[in-house]
Amino acid sequence: MSLPIVRIQRHCLHDGPGIRTTVFLQGCALACPWCSNPEAIPLTPPAFFDEQKCIAHIQADAPLCAGCPFPESGAAPRTCPLGAVHPASSPVEQDAVLQHLMKDAALYRDSNGGVTFSGGEPFLHARALRPLLEALREEGIHIAFETSGFFPPEQAPILLPFINHLLLDLKWMTTPVFNPEISLPPDVFEQNLAAFQVAAAEMTYRLVLIREFLDVPGKRESLLARLQELPPAPIELLPLHHLAESKYRQLGIPFTPLSAPTRSDQKAFCSQIKTLTDAPVRLLRL
Ligand code: SF4
Repeated sequence: MSLPIVRIQRHCLHDGPGIRTTVFLQGCALACPWCSNPEAIPLTPPAFFDEQKCIAHIQADAPLCAGCPFPESGAAPRTCPLGAVHPASSPVEQDAVLQHLMKDAALYRDSNGGVTFSGGEPFLHARALRPLLEALREEGIHIAFETSGFFPPEQAPILLPFINHLLLDLKWMTTPVFNPEISLPPDVFEQNLAAFQVAAAEMTYRLVLIREFLDVPGKRESLLARLQELPPAPIELLPLHHLAESKYRQLGIPFTPLSAPTRSDQKAFCSQIKTLTDAPVRLLRL
């Protein structure tokens, strides 16, 4: 069985405890406008077009480029013999993924790290992922999942017995923006949160800090109230970054120019959360 792999990133320090390898999977039920992996949102992989690799600006009439619309109209081509177009993800056999993940097994053990599945929404691939999780469990590898909690609730019990740590991204900056390709029950987040609570996995909540939303009157108060209602668990705050801007350009989709709060405002909000919740709160810097 294969998995739609967007990328496998080694030596990650912010995707759960210790040093980890993170597996990004294709497809998400949400389509947050600030997503740092916009290529992972559609169920079918979109194509990146990297103009830097296109030779049209130095040789517009290259024989290999015959029929390409880009030199004439500027429209992104669907294919490119010179590698300027590539799909956001490709299917990779489970055995190959496992082999790749096991390259850093010693590092996971030494750092109390492991493997993290992210995306996209990794729970969308519950059936395909289960054999891989079983194999990782047999190898004694710590398994974390980064999830929004927005996925069909019947997927949770397939994977939860194998997961050691859940990183729950709270999509609370705005009302959730949905990917129209996937339909979910209206109370999906509550259902999945309930399943997470009875699972043995440790939990960490994560919240992206976006100045434009935090500055809306009453927003911070409502966020603080909602955080207080959650079962206690450590909270990680992630100021928005713009590392994904070039990906939006290469995918031909609009980039929403949002920003992070100032460093002092981040610290102030972090202190407010610490005061109101009993949980440890950490401000991350990516
Ligand atoms: S085929 Fe590739 S290199 Fe040639 S013009 Fe099109 S995008 Fe550029």
